[in-house]
Amino acid sequence: MVDIERVSARPVSMTRMFVVHAVITLIPVLIVGLVLAEGYRSEARQRGLSEGRSEAVLVARTAIEPILDAKPLRAALPPGQLADLNRVVTHAITERDVLRLRVRNLSGRVLFSDDGSGFNEVPEDEALDAARGQIVERLTHLNSDSNDEGSAGPESVEVYLPLVVSDQQVGVLEVYLPYAPIQADVTAGLHMLYWSTILGLAALYIALFAISLSVSKGLRRQVKENRFLAEHDALTGLANRALFHTRGVDALRSQAATEGRTVIALLDLDRFKEVNDTLGHHSGDELLGIVATRLTEVVGSDASVARLGGDEFGVILAGAADPEPVLNRIRRALAQEATVSGLPISVDSSIGYVVAPEDGTEMVDLLQRADVAMYLAKFDHAGLCRYDPARDHYDAAKLHLVSQLRHAIDAGQLVLHYQPKATVADGSPRAVEALLRWQHPELGLLYPDAFVPLAEQTDLIDKLTAWVMTRALGEIADMGDAVGDLAVAVNISARNLIRPDFAVQVIGILTASGMPAERLIVEITETALLVDPARAATVLGELAAAGVTVSIDDFGIGQTSLSYLATLPVGELKIDKSFVMDMLANPTHAAIVASVVDLGHNLNLRVVAEGVEDAAVLDRLRATGCDLAQGYHIARPMPGRALGEWLRPKALPSAH
Ligand code: C2E
Ligand code: CA
Ligand code: CA
Repeated sequence: MVDIERVSARPVSMTRMFVVHAVITLIPVLIVGLVLAEGYRSEARQRGLSEGRSEAVLVARTAIEPILDAKPLRAALPPGQLADLNRVVTHAITERDVLRLRVRNLSGRVLFSDDGSGFNEVPEDEALDAARGQIVERLTHLNSDSNDEGSAGPESVEVYLPLVVSDQQVGVLEVYLPYAPIQADVTAGLHMLYWSTILGLAALYIALFAISLSVSKGLRRQVKENRFLAEHDALTGLANRALFHTRGVDALRSQAATEGRTVIALLDLDRFKEVNDTLGHHSGDELLGIVATRLTEVVGSDASVARLGGDEFGVILAGAADPEPVLNRIRRALAQEATVSGLPISVDSSIGYVVAPEDGTEMVDLLQRADVAMYLAKFDHAGLCRYDPARDHYDAAKLHLVSQLRHAIDAGQLVLHYQPKATVADGSPRAVEALLRWQHPELGLLYPDAFVPLAEQTDLIDKLTAWVMTRALGEIADMGDAVGDLAVAVNISARNLIRPDFAVQVIGILTASGMPAERLIVEITETALLVDPARAATVLGELAAAGVTVSIDDFGIGQTSLSYLATLPVGELKIDKSFVMDMLANPTHAAIVASVVDLGHNLNLRVVAEGVEDAAVLDRLRATGCDLAQGYHIARPMPGRALGEWLRPKALPSAH
């Protein structure tokens, strides 16, 4: 938003800049125009004068000089010459447009005048200059009344020039030519100059205008682009969460006006993270692009589709009476196989939706409820689920937690604490159990009871277990000699065993960690075994065959049949802490502990007592022959670094 404001503020200052620029350019252009006009005016006058001069020279050479003799004119002209002069001058006046013509001798005296004037005048300087061989011309006004120059007559070019016959100057010719036709040329030229200046200016400003137009157009486009970026997801080009929200509010407003209905649906891809993790981010992006395209295709132009982040999408369907057909079409379209990085991939998705106004009228509430519905869809493996207020009351907070847990792994919010299992005989540690903790950004440190059962209801538990196993093996391996050949116990959920490739996955993690299979213990609760005993037997068999120790956790509270237990490839029994903790006060529990120890030993199993909180219990366990003990009395679960500290002063027993 800040970007948009910053950019949209620009065109204003651009306009100001344009005005300033126009003013600045106008001044030199005006000056240039004035200088040009003045230059042109004097140039035109100069040209007028020289034209007049050439004309006068022409009259002298062609009309006057041929009549004269090659000797200086004296006081008067002979009558024959006068007659000739009269003839040619009449011709010149009519043909050549001459206004006045006089012939003077070298003293400047007028000997001939076409109109009979000037005979008694004192010769002017110009006449005397011409008598000395110069050509003199000037602009003047010819006074027609007094036959003399003044300010009233027509403007004319007055030329004095020497009359030369056979290389000898014989007199002076004085000619007046009309300046009006020349001036017509001049004004025409000036007009042209003004017009071209005006046109030039106009062209300049049109050009400037065009430039500013294209600049502001560019800016407008940039503003548009920035707004697009602020409101859209860069990867898919779909609307982002902010725009989705705005559109939702708009849709709700117009729906309220028409008393129609609005459907807001949230869609989450199942197992998207797997694609991302196994094929890489590039493939993940490619898949998101495909999803975006298919979504848009299915809902058409009437609906608004947005990418809300990660693998979560949103759809607004305005006026949809029953959205399920469309939403199911979306799920089917996404489930169709797509080729990502050359591999065929199909995506399952879960969609939760709300219908306004029944499920709410405010966008914020509706989004939250659609979110709840989406997680219900995931929980129930229903794929599609409408918001149900009856379930929201209880589920919402937990469901929200699951959605956060999904991101917690990548966000690095999960940590492992380790609790040693030590020999009852001498207290030497033999193994550590990895116990999961969630450093929640708002809720603080969460214990597994608060979130593991939720993860167990979705496929998230697969990822969680894999993470714990990888991390636990990695951290213990990193401790190297400090931990000797200590084994690592990891808790497994019933749901993990459902995955057909679980054992393969565990062996893969083991191999990657570089740890021998003998150093991994999988703890599975007695009750978890009962979810699918046959399947559990198969998976545990595969793990045991690979060298992994199988431990039955919380033993004693379930009803495992002893014959079933005998068929399992078990290596360890952990007596549930509820029996251990109060075994000194509760003889029944003490008896159970003692008989589990016996049972285990009869089946060749190692027996662990958990929940050992004091020395007296440890002493009693020693008396019953229990192998290992785990509990606050020995050590509380602690972070990996603390474990290193805890182990250091103790002399680690060598392997078995
Ligand atoms: P559990 O496997 O039975 O783990 C033992 C629990 O007892 C741990 O609780 C431990 O902190 C606690 N405990 C240990 N010594 C004593 C003691 O002397 N007295 C008492 N009162 N409690 C003691 P925690 O860490 O809260 O774990 C609870 C349960 O969460 C675990 O029970 C286990 O079933 C589950 N869990 C923990 N980590 C994981 C995990 O990574 N994956 C799975 N699937 N489940 C986990
Ligand atoms: Ca356990
Ligand atoms: Ca236990």
